[in-house]
Amino acid sequence: MSFNPADNIQDLQYYGEFGGVNPSISDSSTFTFLSAKTMFDTFEGNADGCYLYARHSTPSNLYLGKALAAMEGTETANVSASGMGAITPVILQICGAGDHIVSSRTIYGGTYAFLKNFSPRLGIKTTFVDITKLDIVEAAITKNTKVLYCEAVSNPLLEVADIKGLSVLAKKHNLKLVVDNTFSPLSISPAKLGADVVCHSLTKFINGSSDTVGGVVCGTQEFINDLRNVNDGASMLLGSTMDSLRASSILKNMRTLHIRMKQHSFNAAYLADKFQADGLITVYPGLDSHPSHNLFKSSMNTEFGFGGMLTIDVGTLEKANELMELMQQKNIGNLAVSLGFYRTLFSAPGTSTSSEIPADEQKEMGLSKGLIRFSIGLDNDIERTYQMMKSCMIEVGVL
Ligand code: PLP
Repeated sequence: MSFNPADNIQDLQYYGEFGGVNPSISDSSTFTFLSAKTMFDTFEGNADGCYLYARHSTPSNLYLGKALAAMEGTETANVSASGMGAITPVILQICGAGDHIVSSRTIYGGTYAFLKNFSPRLGIKTTFVDITKLDIVEAAITKNTKVLYCEAVSNPLLEVADIKGLSVLAKKHNLKLVVDNTFSPLSISPAKLGADVVCHSLTKFINGSSDTVGGVVCGTQEFINDLRNVNDGASMLLGSTMDSLRASSILKNMRTLHIRMKQHSFNAAYLADKFQADGLITVYPGLDSHPSHNLFKSSMNTEFGFGGMLTIDVGTLEKANELMELMQQKNIGNLAVSLGFYRTLFSAPGTSTSSEIPADEQKEMGLSKGLIRFSIGLDNDIERTYQMMKSCMIEVGVL
């Protein structure tokens, strides 16, 4: 049978202590041992099924981790307090002083800032490249390179990484391919395409309620054990642990992820088609005009579509701001960062989520000031939304 991430999530069922249809929430930061020997063995990592301390793991966190591992088709997963709390320990677990990373230049601003400004303080250097050009990626690899880093669909430019091609390079040069799949859950399964480690910000589509931050690292049992190791595990020691109460609420929201992603994708594809036909500069992986449309199409789990993110370029920041403020006034959505909410969210990345990237680098990578990033919501009647957006665009002179 072929791999289906939504079926894999559905097939997991846990029961609560008293037969509840949802698993019980673990409400403890520490756990009792019947024998001191078992406690010692657990510290050594040799007591499967025993819980030690909530920063290490909890039943609720493990339930959520299992669902995410099932979704990504990896052996296991480790949840964390935020997306950055997943990504940064992965980098620090694999790399030490003197090591080198080759990263896509179009990635979330926070990850970019970590690689550009923070990790060099620890002796870890990063070369940023156009990830869609495999020859340029390979040319940037040095003898010290340990990680190839990219987003499956990049924030905010919606570039699509050739994960299969990158994984061939990673294997050839003995590197770990780390892929952030925040923009394309269910649609793309990076581990199935050859990624070694898959990270998510759960804050976005997976939780879908814009009520918490959260993150996950999906990978092999060996790698996740390394992250959780009490002696030198970056997740364990840096301490970005998810709270159990949150893990249980995110798990419940995950039960509707497949339905939500189909609706996000349907609505975004509808608007992208209309915007493009209206003559707006529109970027959406589902459009034939997207440079990596065929690549996405050949790598995707078709039924979940091309995702809920699209961009338009309205020329100037002033126009972008005017349009976004008007759309908010008309109750079409919110002028807000983040994504994956039931409402449409829009922001100008150059002055918000990618503001960590210096202006000249933004220009070089094609991030123009008039770019608006949309996370398209779950609107019931998307033609009605389109008509409302269009009248705002006409009012501010974008159409
Ligand atoms: N990765 C991507 C692609 C993101 O868009 C974000 C946040 O916007 C993150 C990671 C960081 O996630 P968090 O805000 O949950 O730490």
